[in-house]
Amino acid sequence: MDENHSGSCLCGAVRFRTRGPLRGVVYCHCSQCRKQTGHFVAATSSKDADIDIEGADALTWYGASEVAKRGFCRSCGSVLFWKHNELDTISIMAGSFDRPSGLSAESHIFVGDKGDYYAIDDGLPQFEKSTPSIKVAGE
Ligand SMILES: [Zn+2]
Ligand SMILES: [Zn+2]
Repeated sequence: MDENHSGSCLCGAVRFRTRGPLRGVVYCHCSQCRKQTGHFVAATSSKDADIDIEGADALTWYGASEVAKRGFCRSCGSVLFWKHNELDTISIMAGSFDRPSGLSAESHIFVGDKGDYYAIDDGLPQFEKSTPSIKVAGE
């Protein structure tokens, strides 16, 4: 079955469209995600080949580490993407999707780095760091 989803930043300067099933949403509580978003990240993932991004001139990438970069809108500041430099996949922030997103939550990672002002009590699997069991894209 064909499945397409779309989304954008807050101001609409950056828009995207995905093709095919998306991975379950992974919540990342690492310190970089916390600092960039002000809370934690909820993201799905897609193959590079299965996403079209419009508004590349507004999309800005911040290389937060040696291995990955973080994409956000230069105009409104919306956090949109996370991308490993050597993989052909892209993480997409779940909240940036238009509804219905078709997404459902899957797990929590880097819970060892989580903020100290909230509890994780949704019953989903929790991992101290990342885990190889998380697929990088929808299959
Ligand atoms: Zn924007
Ligand atoms: Zn993170």
